[in-house]
Amino acid sequence: MTESLNRTRFLQHVAQTSDFPPAMEFVKADGVRLFDANGRAFLDLISGISVNNLGHHHPEITAAIHEQVDRHLHLMVYGEFVVTPQVEYATKLASLLPPSLSSVYFTNSGAEAIEGAMKLAKRFTGRTEIAGFVNSYHGSTQGALSVTGDPELQRNFRPLLPDILHLRYNHPEDLSKITSRTACLIMEPVQAEAGCLVPNAAYLNAVRERCTQTGTLLIFDEIQTGMGRTGTLFAFQDAGVVPDVLVTGKAFGGGMPLGAFIADKKLMSVLTNHPVLGHITTFGGHPVCCAAGKAALEVIVREQLYATAEEKGQLFKTLLVHPAIREVSGKGLLLAVRFDSYEINKSVIDHCMAHGLITDWFLFAPDCLRIAPPLIITEAEIREACAIILSSLSTLTF
Ligand code: PLP
Repeated sequence: MTESLNRTRFLQHVAQTSDFPPAMEFVKADGVRLFDANGRAFLDLISGISVNNLGHHHPEITAAIHEQVDRHLHLMVYGEFVVTPQVEYATKLASLLPPSLSSVYFTNSGAEAIEGAMKLAKRFTGRTEIAGFVNSYHGSTQGALSVTGDPELQRNFRPLLPDILHLRYNHPEDLSKITSRTACLIMEPVQAEAGCLVPNAAYLNAVRERCTQTGTLLIFDEIQTGMGRTGTLFAFQDAGVVPDVLVTGKAFGGGMPLGAFIADKKLMSVLTNHPVLGHITTFGGHPVCCAAGKAALEVIVREQLYATAEEKGQLFKTLLVHPAIREVSGKGLLLAVRFDSYEINKSVIDHCMAHGLITDWFLFAPDCLRIAPPLIITEAEIREACAIILSSLSTLTF
């Protein structure tokens, strides 16, 4: 089928989420490159939005997938049978996390993991109020959307969940709004879609302290920051603050659909009764996805890919200096390049795409260009990417 016919059918039959999809078509991906039907290579600066942390077509991930496909696919709804890839992945995770994060509930996606974590908090505390942050993004299902901090995304889908509170990120004075009524506070340790905002350490400690004081569960949404992206396996490990519930997704499945919320065994056990089967999923923790995710985790840990994320991020920051660039914010390889306007950012993104570099903007920071490449990106590839971004700026008139 010709590329343009495929594109027409894509626009006709695959439901769209905007009127302006880039609608590029790739036939192959390997390492940090995507290839179109003409064999043209594109450098991937976004990893399918923080998913392909090991790059594309990693041999250990594809081998794990093939092996599991040859053993079995789905056997039974979640939590009923002993599914070996789930057991192995959960055990490996527990060995890398603090003892209070040793029980893993696998889901199909990030949003579904957020939903589960919210229900866990309500069930555990017996409270109904849920707190989140302005400009946070937690997913598009109705519970996750309720705690997402953007009225524009929510407006036409109301009514959403009641009893939701939004705090300003990195504003210690708002923490007094967390009270003994609050079931949980859901927080991204780096607020990605707001333009990669990094909270300061004292604030994170104050958040932890307030949640402990009020008996509020602290839930870290590490769906975007996890699996090595910000310099440690999970961002909380660098922040020195341990959440009560850790939520993961995106890169967690090694390129396959998988999420999880992770907590203490005692906490998690409230989901087993009153009601029995009160939180279930058919496909959550699919054996093929768990096999892929575990293979990815093993490579990340063995090669300590998180250890170089900060250094590589610094190289981007050092190279991306130009009068049109206001700042480069973020941590490790989760970065936002801020311009004066969406229009400038859009023209830079268009130029990059036309010159073989895939990038994007952020949901709540349309003036920021996204840098979240596979963690395996090399110094030469970082220089190549930055040269394309900078060359696009030389075409702008100010
Ligand atoms: N939380 C964060 C921080 C995210 O970035 C996303 C997705 O972009 C989600 C939650 C939702 O994950 P999913 O798209 O897998 O439902």
